[in-house]
Amino acid sequence: MKTTIIGAGIAGLAAAVRLAVAGHEVDVFEANATPGGKLSQFSLGDYRFDFGPSLFTMPQYVDELFELAGEDPRAHFNYVRLPDVCHYWWKDGTTFSAPADTEELAVRAESTFGIPAQRVRDFMATAEHKYETTGRTFLEKSLHKSSTWLDWKVAGTMLKIPGLDLFSNMNAVHERDLGHPKLVQLFNRFATYNGSNPYKAPGLLSMIPHFEHHFGAWLPVGGMFDISQSVYELGKRLGVNYHFNTPVKQVLRGRGCVVGVETEQGLVDADAVICNMDVWLAYDRLLDGAKKPKRTLSQQKSTSAVIFYWGIDRTFDELGVHNIFFADDYENEFTKLEAGELADDVTIYVNVSSKLVPGDAPAGGENWFVMVNAPADTGQDWDAWVKPLRTRVIARLSSQLNFVLPTPIAPASTPKNDLADHIVEERIITPTQIERLTGSHQGALYGSSSNNTMAAFLRHPNFSSDIGGLYFLGGSVHPGGGVPLCLLSAKITAGLIEKD
Ligand code: FAD
Repeated sequence: MKTTIIGAGIAGLAAAVRLAVAGHEVDVFEANATPGGKLSQFSLGDYRFDFGPSLFTMPQYVDELFELAGEDPRAHFNYVRLPDVCHYWWKDGTTFSAPADTEELAVRAESTFGIPAQRVRDFMATAEHKYETTGRTFLEKSLHKSSTWLDWKVAGTMLKIPGLDLFSNMNAVHERDLGHPKLVQLFNRFATYNGSNPYKAPGLLSMIPHFEHHFGAWLPVGGMFDISQSVYELGKRLGVNYHFNTPVKQVLRGRGCVVGVETEQGLVDADAVICNMDVWLAYDRLLDGAKKPKRTLSQQKSTSAVIFYWGIDRTFDELGVHNIFFADDYENEFTKLEAGELADDVTIYVNVSSKLVPGDAPAGGENWFVMVNAPADTGQDWDAWVKPLRTRVIARLSSQLNFVLPTPIAPASTPKNDLADHIVEERIITPTQIERLTGSHQGALYGSSSNNTMAAFLRHPNFSSDIGGLYFLGGSVHPGGGVPLCLLSAKITAGLIEKD
């Protein structure tokens, strides 16, 4: 069977491997010059940066691809577990380093926040229960095939869901279960793992910390891009044909079925076409005349981001690989995001992969990926917003990392006392550029948000019900955004194709 995949994001790469193993002749067409999409990399001088994802959970879904191909994953792809997942900082000087181990997390939370460790243990046990009860139904199966719903286990899951905080929001659940405002804010942050708002996203999603504090947080030894690169190379060994710098312009159809794709180089016939391109843009640009699933495509977008990639000329022992500097008023930050704006006081995420990947920065330096959540792009004047945002981010980080802020009358000979003086390389990315570089509608990081109880059901299915042989995968469709879910979307889609 001749199968064409549009886009070499991680889901497209993973599906290519699965289908090549199943005996398909697979062609992958990618608009960019390299594989990975959001999971790609670039360099500034001697500093290497991962473009997008920095937190890696559920590495077993990558390993599975090598095992499927009869290869030892450890011969091609390696990663290390982070003992402490994330360092949290508040303006009042409180800091908290969250260990991966649940028991240690509970004990450390008690000593920092003064709440009984048992509350954290119970909260994490509930997170595990939510995942174990619903995870396999919602994340590992198509929700849009009748065969899924005829399974009695799935019916059982549906009956249990209302009791799993589906109808309250994450913040309410965290206030109820954890009590301490800083711990509530810390766990609310997990809503951003799929670009959602903790004051709206269903409390069922408080299962997300279970991924990090049970399955663990990891870092590939060469940085996040190792994931894309190793899966791409596995595909090459299996005979997948990759075509870079080759955007697909149209999905060709005849008699209600796909017959191929059109690229700038010409027409390519195919028995099945799999779209790893953002689903909204696919309907807009590649499927002329196709009926659009309006309700699905009009779902609220996930958040986007403004990212500062900084080559820093010194090291900071107080930082870990993942660091969060919280805003004081978290709810206001999300209210602003929903209004398409940025709060004055924003939460800042700093990732420093060179802490564990020495080649990522020159000796004595660090590569900082500094991200601020931003609304999806609906025409905001990002150029006007970025400069003051940069000033605020530098001021906040400088003050927490014990710099003295410079005064306007400081003499030219004043020693370096501002973080800005240590930035020797810089690239800034806004939501508009995220859309342009990765083909993600409005620069959304995770497709549509999970800000309502029906969100899981309203994502686009992994197949078209109108056009035979057309399939969808990746962060903008079921089961959603983030690297692990994209890998699962590849598994679901490859399974559907095999069944069809
Ligand atoms: P994408 O990465 O979206 O790639 C789609 C590909 O399709 C692109 O390469 C594009 O060029 C190509 N394409 C589009 N149109 C065409 C066309 N017409 N013809 C040919 N090719 C086309 N996830 C995590 O798990 N952990 C994180 O820490 C995390 N952080 C993130 C931070 C940022 C800044 C971003 C941007 C994302 C982050 N994510 C994170 C989300 C994660 O990166 C995505 O969910 C995932 O990588 C999306 O993969 P995908 O398979 O959907 O494809």
